[in-house]
Amino acid sequence: MAEPLDEAASGGILRKPAWLKVRLAGGEVSAHVAQTLHRHGLKTVCDEARCPNKGECWGQATATFMVMGAVCTRGCRFCAVATAREGEALDPGEPGRLASAIVELGLRYAVITCVDRDDLSDRGAAHFAACVRAIRERDPGIGIEILAPDYQAGEIEVLLESGPDVFAHNIETVERLQSVRDGRASYAKSLSTLALASAWALARGAKLRTKSSILLGIGERRDELLVALDDLRRVNTDILVLGQYLRPTPRQIPVVEYVTPEEFTRLEAVARGKGFAVVISSPLARTSYHARASAEGLSGASGV
Ligand code: SF4
Repeated sequence: MAEPLDEAASGGILRKPAWLKVRLAGGEVSAHVAQTLHRHGLKTVCDEARCPNKGECWGQATATFMVMGAVCTRGCRFCAVATAREGEALDPGEPGRLASAIVELGLRYAVITCVDRDDLSDRGAAHFAACVRAIRERDPGIGIEILAPDYQAGEIEVLLESGPDVFAHNIETVERLQSVRDGRASYAKSLSTLALASAWALARGAKLRTKSSILLGIGERRDELLVALDDLRRVNTDILVLGQYLRPTPRQIPVVEYVTPEEFTRLEAVARGKGFAVVISSPLARTSYHARASAEGLSGASGV
């Protein structure tokens, strides 16, 4: 598995601490996930973003699907996903194959994300929505979480109308450090995306939860982090994920700080005090980590 590199080995000054040791992918269940994905020609953010949790998640027969190809038209400085001006041609068969793979894997909760597609007139919103609908049509009982890219208001609504249970969109870091994201994204825009999703659900009486993640260790100060948590609550974000940034390859920005597990626990309590319904806060937490449990309000529970 592609484990994040040790900063010391990659020319940085920080050595990766012991608490970030991860389980390597392997075993029968993991192989079954890999074969199913391959057979259906599907990509995952687990692979493309070199997620450190692949061993754990795939070993429990879950993965986070990444639709619309593996090439992103954005270039965030912390992300390992390949980038180019144009993405891959959209595959109209992808929604159906995605639904088939989810059913074959026996998933009762599916997390879907996508690359940014600025090269498409609707940034791929209709295709993403078609993926959600295809799963719903195959089995209405499957919980669906979407991790949305940087969309315009109308595109967000297209996605919301497909009926996800959880709408996730990440602010990624505190306001001062937003330049680590692609220049077309911004803190204010991400907050307005989350606000729009919450307001949309409220207006329709929809049982939609919203979710956002922040990567720690990029250089943020604690006071800035607390402001970000307040801002997320101000737009009614329900679920918060705090995880440690790990440099995927030497091409991405270095880690500035390894936040201790004790500090993650302290921050979890702080965030709960601010009113988030669910907080997942641990060094290896990612947006889709233990996603089913977090959607069910079972923060800290095992399982994905
Ligand atoms: S945390 Fe999410 S992206 Fe990472 S391996 Fe698990 S399912 Fe995949």
